[in-house]
Amino acid sequence: MFDYQAPSQLLKNKVILVTGAGDGIGKTAAITYAKYGATVILLGRTTKKLEAVYDHIEKLNYPQAAIVPLNLDGAAEHDYVELANTIESEFGHLDGILHNASLLGDRAPIASYDPTLFEQVMRVNVTSQLLLNQALLPLMQKAEHASIVFTSSGVGRKAKANWGAYAISKFATEAMMQLFSSELTELSPNIRANAINPGATRTSMRANAYPEENPENLATAEDIMPLYLYLMGNDSLDINGQSLDAQ
Ligand code: NDP
Repeated sequence: MFDYQAPSQLLKNKVILVTGAGDGIGKTAAITYAKYGATVILLGRTTKKLEAVYDHIEKLNYPQAAIVPLNLDGAAEHDYVELANTIESEFGHLDGILHNASLLGDRAPIASYDPTLFEQVMRVNVTSQLLLNQALLPLMQKAEHASIVFTSSGVGRKAKANWGAYAISKFATEAMMQLFSSELTELSPNIRANAINPGATRTSMRANAYPEENPENLATAEDIMPLYLYLMGNDSLDINGQSLDAQ
């Protein structure tokens, strides 16, 4: 596991957007960021799940969260503008984005991969990250230090048979991280961009990808949080353009 012990107030006064915050790793990251002092904006497509995370954060007396129901498949430019306007009026700035939401798509050969599904996976896993960053960069420029964290995968570095659109989307995510990282160095040196490869983690996506596997043998989302905290907090100010393993 990535070795980092976060100070208890690491994210105090930070405003952090987490996509796919209703389930799996995103849910745990949102709750963990709130535990370390952040005001978390919970973005996802299933409002009920987001409300459950919101209630959990409230029950633990962490800073009050905010909910943004948004389906990243089919979200239009005006949705992103509206999101930026809401964050601007509520908080005035943004200190971090965790791009975590993803679709697995089909485990199928690329030669016969359904083109409609291919486009859907690319919209959710890649295009939405671009549109979110473009809409929210002005708000991140207003932060003292801001961090963009992308979520990669082992198959985003070395593609494996039958990982189809998902693998391609994760290669694209690595490239997007590198582009933002190098270009922001000039444009907005207060913003850094990095990626996390979570490694095999006990979630419903992993269970769908490996139905034969015993989930008990896998790391939990809680186990992998040290790297999520490290990259979002100010202890990683000199880390930019890296793709790091959580396990
Ligand atoms: P889950 O499927 O458990 O959670 C994914 C989250 O993304 C869900 O909350 C889901 O919402 C949300 N989401 C999916 N589609 C959309 C959409 N169109 N609009 C908005 N939100 C959406 O996945 P994990 O927690 O396992 O994965 C988190 C990240 O980690 C992903 O980027 C994944 O690729 C990556 N990863 C995971 C690994 C693992 O072993 N678990 C290994 C390597 C990488 P809803 O709950 O409503 O479906």
